[in-house]
Amino acid sequence: RSRMKPFVDLRSDTVTRPSAAMRAAMAEAEVGDDVYGEDKTVNALQEEAAALMGFDAALFVPSGTMGNLIAVQLHAQRGTEVIVEANGHIYNYELASIAALAGVLPRVVRGARGFPDPAEVELLCRKKTYYHAPVTLLLLENTHNHAGGAVLPMERKNALIAAARAHGVPVHLDGARVHNAAVALALPPAEVVAGFDSVLFCLSKGLGAPIGSLLCGTSGFIEKARVARKRLGGGMRQVGVLAAAGRVALRDNLARLGQDHARARRLAEALVGIRGFRIDPAGVETNIVIAEVDPPEAVTGWLKYLREGGILAGTLGRGRIRFVTHLDVDDAGIDRAIAAFA
Ligand SMILES: *Cc1c(COP(=O)(O)O)cnc(C)c1O
Repeated sequence: RSRMKPFVDLRSDTVTRPSAAMRAAMAEAEVGDDVYGEDKTVNALQEEAAALMGFDAALFVPSGTMGNLIAVQLHAQRGTEVIVEANGHIYNYELASIAALAGVLPRVVRGARGFPDPAEVELLCRKKTYYHAPVTLLLLENTHNHAGGAVLPMERKNALIAAARAHGVPVHLDGARVHNAAVALALPPAEVVAGFDSVLFCLSKGLGAPIGSLLCGTSGFIEKARVARKRLGGGMRQVGVLAAAGRVALRDNLARLGQDHARARRLAEALVGIRGFRIDPAGVETNIVIAEVDPPEAVTGWLKYLREGGILAGTLGRGRIRFVTHLDVDDAGIDRAIAAFA
């Protein structure tokens, strides 16, 4: 019977489909050539995003990967080091773009729940003898995907930024899911990202748009980012049809992220005590639930079994299953997931 129902798709919050309101807005969007800066819908989205995040300006980019790469290219000089966290998205899931295209060497630090130690960062950022490559950028991620949607605590954020800034090192935030962090902290997004030199956030994750991310920074930074985007082949034309969906995402889907967090927590709590399955509901702060499977090889069997029960989940590293809640998974979907385990 469950096979006749559509799957409950918990693989990622990228699987959401545009709502009827989004499709209507896309159909009606006023457009122009954005390479000439003439797309009114893109311009409106960029202004709204900048205001929301408390930055001077923002740039619409096709993907988070491109936005992060542009930030690294602009902040860091080739032949220098950029501090990344061992399990970070940029270091693990962006095809070595910062090495291949920005020409930097990742200096890897291991964080606690994805967040580096400020003292270690401070030490790395200190000026070095000329025959050591200097650190020219610190990259942070909030929420941290691999750490199960962990939220960067505000105190830790301030300490990390201060550690880098003490040595003139800028800090970029991969905030693909930073709106989940803002909702979890019950703070305005601008407060959560205050102090960063630039911030990337995704419209295509929990916010439910079909495509797009925004890179935020000073006006001068965003002016350069526009050039870097064009160089990477990311100059787009009548792209207001996509920006329109992004505007609806910002209007309709920010506040509701808390529902995804509550559902993720409920799923995690229901899965405690299943044999061969380790899960810590207290660690579920946002919309990602990670279960560690023992033995690790059992992951394939679990995923197959869940699929037969109408549930799709994904993996995130060896022996780890990831469930992500989003706006296309309702309470009934979580009930079905729990029932599949039962
Ligand atoms: C999704 C994601 C990105 C960007 O991914 P794209 O698929 O390129 O849009 C960057 N960082 C994190 C943490 C992500 O989850």
